[in-house]
Amino acid sequence: MLDYEGSGMSVMEMTHRSKTFLEIIREAERLLRELMNVPLNYKILFLQGGATLQFSAVPMNLYRKGKADYIITGQWAKKAADEGARYLEARCVSTSKDKNFTYIPADGPEAFDGDADYCHFTTNNTVYGTRFASLPETRAPLVADMSSCILSEVYDVSKFGLIYAGAQKNIGPAGLTVVIVREDLIGNALPSTPLILDYKTHADDESLHNTPPTYAVYIAMLMFRWLKEQGGVAAMQRQNEAKAKLLYDCIDGSSFYESHIAPRDRSLMNILFFTRSEELDKKFVKEATAEGLVSLGGYRTVGGMRASVYNAMPYEGVEKLVGFMKDFEAKNSR
Ligand SMILES: *Cc1c(COP(=O)(O)O)cnc(C)c1O
Repeated sequence: MLDYEGSGMSVMEMTHRSKTFLEIIREAERLLRELMNVPLNYKILFLQGGATLQFSAVPMNLYRKGKADYIITGQWAKKAADEGARYLEARCVSTSKDKNFTYIPADGPEAFDGDADYCHFTTNNTVYGTRFASLPETRAPLVADMSSCILSEVYDVSKFGLIYAGAQKNIGPAGLTVVIVREDLIGNALPSTPLILDYKTHADDESLHNTPPTYAVYIAMLMFRWLKEQGGVAAMQRQNEAKAKLLYDCIDGSSFYESHIAPRDRSLMNILFFTRSEELDKKFVKEATAEGLVSLGGYRTVGGMRASVYNAMPYEGVEKLVGFMKDFEAKNSR
């Protein structure tokens, strides 16, 4: 942190134009391309502004005929659609709002507009604990918000037009946003697009048009190295599936806890569960916190418990939680 490879300087102190930093950002790009098997006709961009800024950048860059399909499976998907609607006709083609987003709608190709500029969806719904087990069937380029599941399971990047993710959940520190975009979608942004939101600006300058979040890029690069050492994304997926199975088996195997989500649609990253009362849920979160099991409270509009078991959470962490759940159940069952 304080002395990068004998330079006497932290990466934090270096200019982003230095040869050292150039090597760091190029290695990050190379490793991410390798880990996700990103084809050569896709650019990888390291940006700022979070996933939320991509809610605007996507319609501004991909606007062609002026209409796009949005699949609304949670609050992030809705925010993306609301922002899209400021620039084009953002049609909600499919939603699971009728059952408080507890499932992934299973629509066939007829639900989608194959001529739309793109079809936007959220691969993993962080707040509601659902995930797309298969991709929407449309001819339009797929645009995916992968903020909470990037690198947690294998995706075929060639099936997407664009993938974006804020780094802070599954990659590294906040401040970095990753965009993976097919080259033919770059270079036709709306004329009013700010230069800094135009993918072409960053694609042409290898993400060095202005100062990127240098330290966050460095830590992301180290995380990519670590992921490779773990055996890559396929190995992470096996581990994540094992973690999720342990937790869902505990929930399904008890009459004390319940999951509201059909097995096929369940997230591997954000696992929601409930007891029979809000009061008990609160007690669970409080007592778990005292045991060092933290951040288990569900999102405020959902309640219950949410275990976010991103790549960095080891299997042993989930074992500890399951042990606590069994104890809590024994003490609080009627
Ligand atoms: C956390 C999250 C976001 C918000 O990302 P920011 O980087 O804070 O803008 C967007 N989409 C999903 C699916 C998320 O989980």
